[in-house]
Amino acid sequence: MQHNALLLERLGALIHQSVRDDAARHGLLPIHVQVLSYLSRANRYSDMPIAVAEYFGVTRGTVSQTLAVLERKGLLVRESDARHGRRVHLGLTPSARALLRESWITRLETALTTLPLDAATLESGLRGLLAGLQRLNGQRAFGVCARCAHFQPDGRRAHCGLTGEPLAKAQTLRICREWRSPHAVTE
Ligand code: SF4
Repeated sequence: MQHNALLLERLGALIHQSVRDDAARHGLLPIHVQVLSYLSRANRYSDMPIAVAEYFGVTRGTVSQTLAVLERKGLLVRESDARHGRRVHLGLTPSARALLRESWITRLETALTTLPLDAATLESGLRGLLAGLQRLNGQRAFGVCARCAHFQPDGRRAHCGLTGEPLAKAQTLRICREWRSPHAVTE
């Protein structure tokens, strides 16, 4: 195995261990914590049950059970979409946000800031690797909105070229299930 592949495998195992520890501290399963973390980063086209299923590659039944647990624990709320009647958005409660602040993702972000590396170069390399593996696995990429082929800055007010809807600034920094690479060959 190449050194980099070995290092990535170790990192993956370490992160899995951290997720398991965080989940156990709160009486949850790892997937519960991972779904909360995903929802904290998902935009309004991606904070729905079907997007959760796509992101984690699990069935809708599994997602339903996961969401039910998170609701019972007071970590998740369902909100109807004001414009699309049957669409339901999943929102985090203050308790969920507090849980995430002390979770593996915060520790990982802190560790990343201490690396003597150019963050943009590291992100570009990891993004390329992730996109390549997702292509091989036939999965959606879930990239950041502001770097999407459909993203239209339009001066001060950004728009989504796919849906034609305006995008609030905060939404443009989140990940989206409809994301398309502006550089299909490299992303
Ligand atoms: S511009 Fe792309 S990433 Fe942003 S909302 Fe539209 S499809 Fe999703």
